[in-house]
Amino acid sequence: MTTKRISGSPARFIRAWSAISGRSINGTPASSRSSAIEPTSSPIAPAKAKQRLHEDKNAPLKDMRIGGLQPVTLLDYPQKLAAIIFTAGCNMRCPFCYNYKLVLPELLSDDNLYDEREVIAFLKKRKKYLDGLVISGGEPLAQEDLPDFLKQMKQIGYAIKLDTNGLAADILQHLIGEQLIDYIAMDIKGPLADYQKFSGVPAGQVADSIKLVMKSGLPYEFRSTLVKNLHTSEDVGKMAQAIKGAKLYYLQNYSQNVPLAGDKFCGRQFAAEELETMRALAAGSVKKCLIR
Ligand code: SF4
Repeated sequence: MTTKRISGSPARFIRAWSAISGRSINGTPASSRSSAIEPTSSPIAPAKAKQRLHEDKNAPLKDMRIGGLQPVTLLDYPQKLAAIIFTAGCNMRCPFCYNYKLVLPELLSDDNLYDEREVIAFLKKRKKYLDGLVISGGEPLAQEDLPDFLKQMKQIGYAIKLDTNGLAADILQHLIGEQLIDYIAMDIKGPLADYQKFSGVPAGQVADSIKLVMKSGLPYEFRSTLVKNLHTSEDVGKMAQAIKGAKLYYLQNYSQNVPLAGDKFCGRQFAAEELETMRALAAGSVKKCLIR
């Protein structure tokens, strides 16, 4: 069993910073989130790290399934220079997702995971350069060991931004209550009554998560990736209604790539004017609606 080892001198870090300051490592965001890491672009090399972790009986942490690490981003955490961790596995199956390498179980072999303790050691070293840490995915709330991991990150001193699909409101509530997150970015996939069509699963606790986010007292944003041939203006109106009164709602155009549903998916991008029409519609329900 192998996992990936983090490496990278400060010079390499600076090069990575320069390289990605204008974009994500793997291109444009997948659905509402940043896209997954490709090892060719990250300071990471294969290692038998997981095996070492299991051999160490004093290891303080259980494993978290980490599928990627972006060493620095200027774009993903408002006002902060941050790193991004991509957790592996997701409890949704959005047909337009192209983070499929982090979603589909058959592609999630332990060989493709990063060693948690090496990630932590890396982030400890990088704290002098970074203010924040974005926990993205996949779906971070599907990670059993997320609270323990976040406690470690808070001890190091990171401000934490959570990217979530909001399906697990009970876990979200726990993280908010324990003051383990500082910013929440939550996806709204489609009208709640028809969530299966947009996310592959029923809305479950998504409505509860919306309420939690809005009452959390934390900075937050909601965001929806809009896909032509999937979302309609009426859908956008319903999504905005579901987060009525929210401080900030981002609409993001679908980025055509290889989606989860493969060639069968016939989603397209909206034209800029179409997107603006939908933004104006949504803006009637929330305090601020922007296109990103
Ligand atoms: S929530 Fe949807 S878009 Fe996001 S990682 Fe999961 S399947 Fe992909």
